Amino acid sequence: MNDVLVVGAGLAGLHTATLLAEQGHDVLLVERRTNLTSAIRTTGIFVRKTLDDFPLPAECLGPPIRRVVLYPPDLRRPVTLVSGRDEYRVGDMAPLYVAAAKRATSAGVRIALGTRYAGRVGNAFGLVGRHGPTQVRARYVVGADGARSRVARDLALDRNLHLLIGAEEVFAVPGSDEPPTFHCVLDPSLAPGYLAWVVNDGQHAHVGVAGYAARFPDGMRKALERFGKEAPGLSRAERPVEVERRGGPIPVGGLLRRISCADGLLVGDAAGAVSPLTAGGLDPCLRLSTLAADVLDEALRGRPDALTHYDGAALRAHFRGRLMLRRGLAQVRTPAAASAAFKLLRTPLGQAAARRILFGDRSFPTS
Ligand SMILES: Cc1cc2nc3c(=O)[nH]c(=O)nc-3n(C[C@H](O)[C@H](O)[C@H](O)COP(=O)(O)OP(=O)(O)OC[C@H]3O[C@@H](n4cnc5c(N)ncnc54)[C@H](O)[C@@H]3O)c2cc1C
Repeated sequence: MNDVLVVGAGLAGLHTATLLAEQGHDVLLVERRTNLTSAIRTTGIFVRKTLDDFPLPAECLGPPIRRVVLYPPDLRRPVTLVSGRDEYRVGDMAPLYVAAAKRATSAGVRIALGTRYAGRVGNAFGLVGRHGPTQVRARYVVGADGARSRVARDLALDRNLHLLIGAEEVFAVPGSDEPPTFHCVLDPSLAPGYLAWVVNDGQHAHVGVAGYAARFPDGMRKALERFGKEAPGLSRAERPVEVERRGGPIPVGGLLRRISCADGLLVGDAAGAVSPLTAGGLDPCLRLSTLAADVLDEALRGRPDALTHYDGAALRAHFRGRLMLRRGLAQVRTPAAASAAFKLLRTPLGQAAARRILFGDRSFPTS
């Protein structure tokens, strides 16, 4: 019998598994992908608070970014915001996941790649791997299996209903005279309910769109294609024929209320731990995983009621403001409305608000 079965080796699953193993518990981590360097679903922008609080390997992080440029739909008269501090760094995600897996293995986590969690079978959990189906037993199961979590369904916990979808192309760029910059375009015909972006840190460019699936006028792929042709911030960078493609769902309904029960809990996207406004999920998934590992450690040491303190409903109260702003952004449905909203951004008040969101010290609250 394992102490804990963790399903999903994204950042949330790797972090939870590592912390539990470091506390002396016996952890099996299963991941359906056969390697951690393919099918990456994130741009990998880490915010300052995460870089301050979590020991991410420096060699897996791009140059610091201090400059954000915000554009209306016609891309004219953008608003440039520059921070006095390093605000973001883009992770080189493939080596970053590999480094996290190495740390997990060193701590004693057994990682089974190419192994899909297939559901509960009585007191056991069904897995399908290279050698066919098997069953394992564990005192607790952790759903770190992303926005459409199978574990959440099996444990009868809450599930993400409010999702954006996002996609991006990633390619290396030649050095540039422009400082590393995060370009954001507010245009609901390209990115309905969210933003289109170019992150160019002088090493790599990420060109992406995200929004409500049903609202893309010609589908997300076409929107990304269209944006790629006119995207700002790529003046000297040529898009190569071969690019890395990333994409996936992004839960933006806020932290789910019921994220634990007597048999286990949810972390990361599975728990809805993503900022409803910025759609950033890397900081939340690390912070919530730390809390989850503490709670499970307590439970495994003979205090099973510790799991009741892992309560999404209580934490969710901190998200009221961000949920309200998400509803506001979702209401911007036409380029004309976006241009009108953009006028606010040109005022000192609007810029102060944007700076608070983009460069603020707030992080994902876990207490
Ligand atoms: C296009 C895009 C760009 C983004 N950019 C950023 C960004 O720049 N900054 C930021 O902070 N956030 C960003 N996000 C959000 C952020 O990436 C996620 O919130 C974060 O990666 C979630 O990590 P996770 O470990 O919970 O989930 P995931 O990384 O999705 O990991 C879940 C894992 O579970 C595995 N899995 C699923 N089902 C099973 C199963 N049945 N059996 C076994 N394994 C299973 C999957 O293969 C996957 O590896 C972005 C999201 C998208 C879609």
